Amino acid sequence: MTTILPMATNKSTPGPSDASHLNSELQLVSSLAKLQELEKKIHELRQFMPDGLLEPLVPIANPDKATLNNQVAETPQILRASLDETARARVSDVQRFQSLWRDPELKSVWESVESRIKESNGQMIQPSGKWDRDYDVLLKDLADKENSKTEERQREEEEAERAQVLSVEGGWQKVLGQFVQRGVPGVRVAEEQDGNSLAVALIRAGAVFLVRGVVPEPGAPISEWEVSSKTGNRVLTKLEIAMLDCLGSRSRKWDLAFLLDMISSYGDIKSTPCVKCNRRTDDGAQLPTLRHLRQNQQFTEGEARTYTFDALHSSCA
Ligand SMILES: [Zn+2]
Repeated sequence: MTTILPMATNKSTPGPSDASHLNSELQLVSSLAKLQELEKKIHELRQFMPDGLLEPLVPIANPDKATLNNQVAETPQILRASLDETARARVSDVQRFQSLWRDPELKSVWESVESRIKESNGQMIQPSGKWDRDYDVLLKDLADKENSKTEERQREEEEAERAQVLSVEGGWQKVLGQFVQRGVPGVRVAEEQDGNSLAVALIRAGAVFLVRGVVPEPGAPISEWEVSSKTGNRVLTKLEIAMLDCLGSRSRKWDLAFLLDMISSYGDIKSTPCVKCNRRTDDGAQLPTLRHLRQNQQFTEGEARTYTFDALHSSCA
């Protein structure tokens, strides 16, 4: 089975292609919200002729109706310009209406309306004349619920994954072994004496990190991994502080494989361009010290994962 991060590993996760039938209620409400908006726009369009187009003439004909935004034009040129502007604004309103009308989502709605009319021998469907609900509000509620369900599912899956990793005795040593075997260039890892820590050296970046497993109580497995800089008594550089900040704010703190790949992604920090601006340093001469897990990475179950990170300037994030 293939899994994708950070989207869930669950097969029922809706993808863009099958979303329509999985979220049919969402789809219906979304279509209704669009219809409601169309109807509102139709009422607005009715005001366009002639009132909307001739709006600049209103204060001339009726000075009482002059407003801050619609005053009597001082010269014929100004009047002409504001008539032009009003006409352009109305035309783009009509265009917006047309594009909403031709929205691909509404295509199936129109088709269904037409087939209903055909079925009823040309009898028009009689509307009640009022909307019972605000469908844009309902749509937002439904979308929020859908999102929190997805987040909940992702949390559960990560929890299951975490529990599985923790249940294997010496599991992290296996993870470490798999990492060392990959022989990532410029990265050296050594186990520390205490049996719960590692030193990770980035040769080219000239940085050494101390990765320490946190044991919540004696005899318990390591619950998460902490990172600090192994500098002895030396004061941390700005670059080291920035890297540690980003490492400290990572997700999946229980996942050693994730952390080792994230640290390795700093191996070529001095020559890695930012994925956003494609430059090495930003306007403040800063290197891209942020790391974001690349979206939609695929992993095969049962095989060691290799995580890929995108480099970003903090000014580009
Ligand atoms: Zn950048």
